[in-house]
Amino acid sequence: MQIEFDNAFLRELPGDPEQGPRVRQVPGAAWSRVDPTPVAAPRLLAWSPEAAALVGLDAADAADPAFAQVFAGNALLPGMQPWAANYGGHQFGSWAGQLGDGRAISLGEAVGGGGRWELQLKGAGQTPYSRFADGRAVLRSSIREFLCSEAMHHLGIPTTRALSLVATGEAVVRDMFYDGHPRPEPGAVVCRMAPSFLRFGSWELPASRGDPALVRQLADFVLRHHHPQLAGQGEAGHGEWFAQVCERTAAMVDGWMRVGFVHGVMNTDNMSILGLTLDYGPYGWIEDYDPDWTPNTTDAQGRRYRFGTQAQVAYWNLVRLAQALSPLFATAAPLEAGLQRFADAYERARRATVAGKLGLAVADGDDVALFDQLLELLQAGQVDMTLFFRGLDGLDPAAPDIGVVDAAFYDPDARAAVEPRLRQWLARYAARLAADPLDAAGRRDTMRRHNPLYVLRNWLAQEAIDRAEQGDLGGVEALQEVLRRPYEEQPGRSHYASRRPEWARQRAGCSMLSCSS
Ligand code: AMP
Ligand code: MG
Repeated sequence: MQIEFDNAFLRELPGDPEQGPRVRQVPGAAWSRVDPTPVAAPRLLAWSPEAAALVGLDAADAADPAFAQVFAGNALLPGMQPWAANYGGHQFGSWAGQLGDGRAISLGEAVGGGGRWELQLKGAGQTPYSRFADGRAVLRSSIREFLCSEAMHHLGIPTTRALSLVATGEAVVRDMFYDGHPRPEPGAVVCRMAPSFLRFGSWELPASRGDPALVRQLADFVLRHHHPQLAGQGEAGHGEWFAQVCERTAAMVDGWMRVGFVHGVMNTDNMSILGLTLDYGPYGWIEDYDPDWTPNTTDAQGRRYRFGTQAQVAYWNLVRLAQALSPLFATAAPLEAGLQRFADAYERARRATVAGKLGLAVADGDDVALFDQLLELLQAGQVDMTLFFRGLDGLDPAAPDIGVVDAAFYDPDARAAVEPRLRQWLARYAARLAADPLDAAGRRDTMRRHNPLYVLRNWLAQEAIDRAEQGDLGGVEALQEVLRRPYEEQPGRSHYASRRPEWARQRAGCSMLSCSS
């Protein structure tokens, strides 16, 4: 197994003079050199051929015993120079100071395949940023990160990728409900990949410390490697870059809203500067439609990171980034213009999403209003979001019948309460379709490209986790396979396109998740 590395992050950005995991504040540096802590018995549980191909690896590499060793953190390939990144962040609305990679360790930047891919182990042991924690990750959350990263990619939503899932053969102690009942759980390491893992918090930390030079170095690093057409243009280049970060963030959140994804912890340290979905923790998927739902029990009180407000939260986070970047600008005008680009891009993206989900050639303001009325009915009727939109493409505009969405209802009473209004809505929608330039085939095709049939429903992930904890990886493999083609109906796989079963309603891991991972 061979990978070509070019670790520009270490070469071009200032580092911490001290090496190793002693917990400390690290001023004036973007990274600290620290090696992964070896684990007892690495065993490869799953890997992604699609992600592997991006760094020039294939099935023969995955079959090599060295693969599990390297991606557990027990061995280094030539060119790897492990580091933990330094960053801060706003957590649940409050400035949290230095955070950094407390359990993520980057191995290097692979450049031999397609583009630049930072390879990063999550759960690889302690770093200077581990604070009071162990630097490890449990199997259940590692399975969730592995499966969801690749699922999001196949859904067409910008995301970090996942190369591998390796069991460590070691136990990790977690108090899953923070209720004083810690228990040992199997540990695992995921190797994730991104062109860069820099986050909004990477700029907030040096800005908070009055270090504008590092703010600038980090910005110029990203421009050089990820926006080369904007590099070397001074303030104009920085302004356009910030605006593009805003636009990418808007596109990402619009993707989440289209498929019913709730991130769950949109702290600024979990916001990628490249607009990638980053840090799969207590995320979840909307089943019965509810914009107020958050899967994150840690956030159950304030519900800051609920589904329906993700765009507003992204904007709030971008304002924090703008403040951190202000040393790069003589006036606030370019930053204000960038924030406006978020609002414009989100509005445009949402219209396109509404058109796609409803099967219209283009959506205007009236269509968006029609869509919003539908969302209210879906909420009132406790209707499964994914199954509703997949059923809707079977509607005959000449004879609209609610039967096409029968599979989407959870509760007969809730259905009865909303059914008259839903029938009226379907009639209005049918009339709108009759006036649309798309023909029936074009409409169905559009809807099937915007409305996935298979998403990583929380209880599906939990079923796979339960089996994996018993040593059976069949559930993980099956989900990985189904989620490769989320928009395509797959014969014999209706289980993966089913409403949440009753057992999952209150089961931990399905309806509620803590940050304990
Ligand atoms: P998260 O909520 O996963 O984004 O993590 C927030 C911060 O806590 C980051 O700085 C993480 O690196 C750190 N962190 C989370 N879990 C652990 C752990 N088990 N060991 C060390 N640091 C951790
Ligand atoms: Mg994080």
